[in-house]
Amino acid sequence: MATIPAAAESTGQDFRPLIHSLSKAEMAAVMSSLGEPPYRAKQVWEWLYIKLATEWMAMSNLPLGLRERLEDDFSICPAAIAARSAETSGTEKLLVRMRDGECVEEVLIPAPDRKTVCISSQVGCRFRCAFCASGQAGFRRNLETGEIVAQVLLAARIWAGRPSHVVFMGIGEPLDNYDNVLKAIRIINDQNGIGIGARKITISTSGIIPAMERLAGEGIQVELSVSLHAPTQELRSRLMPVGRLYPLDQLISACRSYFEKTKRLITFEYVLIRNINDQPTHAKMLCRLLGDFPCRVNLLLLSPVPEFKAESSSQDAARMFVKTLAKASINATLRTPRGLSVNAACGQLRSSHADNAASAS
Ligand code: SF4
Repeated sequence: MATIPAAAESTGQDFRPLIHSLSKAEMAAVMSSLGEPPYRAKQVWEWLYIKLATEWMAMSNLPLGLRERLEDDFSICPAAIAARSAETSGTEKLLVRMRDGECVEEVLIPAPDRKTVCISSQVGCRFRCAFCASGQAGFRRNLETGEIVAQVLLAARIWAGRPSHVVFMGIGEPLDNYDNVLKAIRIINDQNGIGIGARKITISTSGIIPAMERLAGEGIQVELSVSLHAPTQELRSRLMPVGRLYPLDQLISACRSYFEKTKRLITFEYVLIRNINDQPTHAKMLCRLLGDFPCRVNLLLLSPVPEFKAESSSQDAARMFVKTLAKASINATLRTPRGLSVNAACGQLRSSHADNAASAS
């Protein structure tokens, strides 16, 4: 039987559980425990995820007594926008503040054919990738399910319509907050609610092998994107310390098993860093590593962060890298970074906000 989540683990003033952390079954259990008919759960679900209600009192087809009871028992305000910055392309970055004052980043990326929202899964990250501001700042806590869902709802309110795509590429390692992320995905995927198709939701991981094995068995059609960033164990471990825990050869085997089990193509992410991992020899080693594994490779130019003293590859080096992969029949694309002018590199808005707050105090 579904249970109601425990009170928020926040240290702020509002200790009520988040209504957005409840699954559909849990919502039904709440209504049943309050002596309400089953259709009440559906009504509340529609208010939350179709009408995007932000106040209990707005739910006009619910009896006043029930609204008051729900207001006493559950918070409907998981997060608020603390700062916004936009660039001319329409890409917008939000600093999202949770009830305990912790902040994460979210990026809204509109394009003619899609509206993508990039969301965070943790406050900080424990994996400390060399090129990532979030990792360098360390881990604070997992986001609750409702705090993850809330980021999608903020985008839906700003766009006056639901995002078409959701990518877990903001702050945090989503597979390190597995249960809350999966529950959030099931909520935003619900066809009687936000209704974002599973194939339009991407989980990006640094390669947490046990969680990838678990994900393969979930029967959910999400996209999986794996950060490689280096073609050898030695170099990858230097750039991504998580590589010491989950070595590259084991990671590639896990990716092959994931593909065999789910039949879903994996996308490998590779950030090109000048003279570190972008040389022709690196491209050839990457070809050998991937061999005939059916996959996609996304190449990205490094977004500079102050904590990492390195530069992005030149366009020429990047083009040469793509060419080498293409020659080996590897489906590789050089992605244009969007959001650099709004400080959209991982962790940067949060750090600059913290700097401003510190200098103001
Ligand atoms: S790149 Fe991802 S996994 Fe690595 S430190 Fe940053 S948030 Fe964590």
